[in-house]
Amino acid sequence: MNGAMGEALSRVLDPAALDACDKPRGRHVIEVPRGWAGAVIEVVIPARVACARCDGGGCDGCGRRGGHRVPGDPTARLVRVRLPSEMEGGVMLRILRPFGEDGVGIAQLHLEARAGAAASTGVTWCEAAVPEEESRIERAERAEPRVAASLFGARKAAAYATIAVALAALVAFAVGR
Ligand SMILES: [Zn+2]
Repeated sequence: MNGAMGEALSRVLDPAALDACDKPRGRHVIEVPRGWAGAVIEVVIPARVACARCDGGGCDGCGRRGGHRVPGDPTARLVRVRLPSEMEGGVMLRILRPFGEDGVGIAQLHLEARAGAAASTGVTWCEAAVPEEESRIERAERAEPRVAASLFGARKAAAYATIAVALAALVAFAVGR
């Protein structure tokens, strides 16, 4: 994959390209305590997730099944992500190849995180939020960001338009598993 890094990066930064990808795309919604903004969390993705295109209604992307199976035991279905430092109204993290490069399972996971009273089942707090200066250094060391984030609601369109800026501000990035 190293040779394709530039291409992969541009794909991450281009929501239209992500939307155009016809590979299986799953959706999972979690709730996290408000104080977790900016923290690294681990999420056990269910063995079956809704199709992110049709949200369960059935479409060509999911073979009319409305969802996708995620193979493996819970440890194989674990993703580790840093939540955005701002989670007002909820965020959507697009995780590319959430379960590795072997082509098994879904190609994109849309992980929707909403701030609430408690963490959903399967969601574990791992690392505290880092100061911005520190996170910038950390980001520079990462070869291939796999996660793009956007804010919901009224700010969604603006967030999409400035997704590169959002990434530069370290709204979210994948943490190596
Ligand atoms: Zn579908």
